[in-house]
Amino acid sequence: MSAGGRRARNANPPYSAPRDLRRSTPAGPIGDDRESERTSGPREGSGSAAITIRRHGIINGVSRAFRVAAVLFDFDDTLTTPGALDFDRIRRDLACPPGTPILEHIAGLPSAEQRARASTRLNELELEAAERAQPNPHAEALVRRLQDTGLPLGILTRNSRASVERALHNFPALRPADFQVIVSRDDHVPPKPAGDGVAYAARRLGVDVHELLLVGDYIFDVLAGASAGALTVLLQPGDLLDAGYADVSAEGTPQSTTRPVLGKIYPDGTLDPAPDWVIRNLSDLPNLVRMGRPLPAGKFPADLLETFLDSLPNDNPSVLLGPRLGRDVAALRVAPTDSYNSSEEPPTLAVGADPVTFTTDDIGAWAVLVNANDIATCGALPRWFFATLLLPTGSTPSQVLEILHSVRKACAREGIALCGGHTEITDAVVRPVVSGAMLGTVSVDGLVDKRALREGDSLLLTKRVAVEGTTLLASELGDELQRRGMTAEELSACHSLHDKLSVVADAAIAASVPGVSAMHDVTEGGLAAAIMELSAAGRHAITVNMEAIPLYAETQRISVLLDIDPLGLIGSGSLLICCRPAARAAVANALSTAGIESTVIGNVGAPLDHSDGVVTATHHGTPVPWPHFDVDEVARVLSALPRG
Ligand SMILES: [Mg+2]
Repeated sequence: MSAGGRRARNANPPYSAPRDLRRSTPAGPIGDDRESERTSGPREGSGSAAITIRRHGIINGVSRAFRVAAVLFDFDDTLTTPGALDFDRIRRDLACPPGTPILEHIAGLPSAEQRARASTRLNELELEAAERAQPNPHAEALVRRLQDTGLPLGILTRNSRASVERALHNFPALRPADFQVIVSRDDHVPPKPAGDGVAYAARRLGVDVHELLLVGDYIFDVLAGASAGALTVLLQPGDLLDAGYADVSAEGTPQSTTRPVLGKIYPDGTLDPAPDWVIRNLSDLPNLVRMGRPLPAGKFPADLLETFLDSLPNDNPSVLLGPRLGRDVAALRVAPTDSYNSSEEPPTLAVGADPVTFTTDDIGAWAVLVNANDIATCGALPRWFFATLLLPTGSTPSQVLEILHSVRKACAREGIALCGGHTEITDAVVRPVVSGAMLGTVSVDGLVDKRALREGDSLLLTKRVAVEGTTLLASELGDELQRRGMTAEELSACHSLHDKLSVVADAAIAASVPGVSAMHDVTEGGLAAAIMELSAAGRHAITVNMEAIPLYAETQRISVLLDIDPLGLIGSGSLLICCRPAARAAVANALSTAGIESTVIGNVGAPLDHSDGVVTATHHGTPVPWPHFDVDEVARVLSALPRG
């Protein structure tokens, strides 16, 4: 297969993949060595869910949160030892061409009589095979173990119910009654690879199909599960070619004589269609299921925590004692780093703490971002992060791991070391809370303190107004914005602002220029609130030239479409910088060299003898009121419009 096939796959996958989870590497490197971690661990940005099994046998390739409410097994070659059903023989007997699925062949026979005869013969052949069927190693113990955790279990097969019941006779420890539901072709729902049987089983099991884990050995199982929206596990102890995949990197397409070939393995190991996970052995399943099972209130399980912490690389030389199970204290070497403007004085420690309490897909990254931005505004370099994770009762281990990985990725982006914290499941919260603490260093003379503000200082804004609000509204109200006329390209431009939410670089660059008197990051309440806060903290009035305030075209478009004022829109990503007029050009040049745009939007006025901020505004010289918003425009508009 050529690159064309791969393009086609990316542009228009033949079978829908409901979540990003649906990429995985083939069953190759599953093991407990470091090498396998590197080769099959989660890949940055790919949403890959390849599995590695580490110490303690805990699945650690899980980078996304998921929940398992029931498990649905394929029967033949999944719960039974492979080989009892001889598909070649059945095909010959029924004159079914190689590579054609048997049920579909029968359904395509011209007369009702032929179809009935073939069906009867198939039933006989299946029953014969069922008499020879043996339980797969681990199958019985697995079913018992899952039952013990209270999970409802089911079977979904293309075979007759009679053949499943006959085969289960050969299982010393299991009976049909061990499965809450057995969906066979006698149930008259379209067979796999259609998703109907999966949806039907989910209904009978009384679970949300998104929380149903389908385990099978063949590509039909993956297709059925994925099209129904279930979680899918491909059990493949041997070669993925046996599961109905063709290796497109090999010469030609290997043809299975027993089963149709419907999927592809690309040279990078990606499967199409991809199961959420690939396992080699049924005994791997309980650890995977555990990652999706609700946790009771209390301390997070120690064995899981240890494995999770082991999966977070910690190679920062300033961290002498880092996060580790049972270690409540971190030890840090507070020495200057290369990027730190060293002086004769020992560095000053800058410390800030901020919790993130609102729901977000990326709460861990947010916690790092807001804390890093805060630290940066005093001129310090954010270096060490601590995270306390509080999750409500019923959260799953995979949720914890997702947050930890989100924290780690965000830290890595800014060169920050994750040094420790605490993880707890508690009924004191109703949704996940990440409470962060950030430590950084700054030289004594590099410390930027708002009390240094002076009348006549220039006021600069980095980037443009409402960076965060623009990307947030595009995510939350994408459908509504498109209904109101926004194009996909415009929405995508809004999403790309997400990369500009940090002000760490803005602040580090500005702080390195002599003459900077104050820095303040824009957050909730937008620019309107931020300048008022800056005025209050610096005890000086501030004058703003409204016509100078820079706006992204995307922000302007969203503001018109949703009838909002961008000055009241949450604005993380922008930094307010005050500096002596003589330093203005140097600050702007230094930022510009780093690719960060800045605009002079006003200047500092007279000192204040009270703690209320005073902001005066002019528009081309005419005085205008400085806007005030009781709530952030994001909150106002989100409470009034449907999400999506
Ligand atoms: Mg099977």
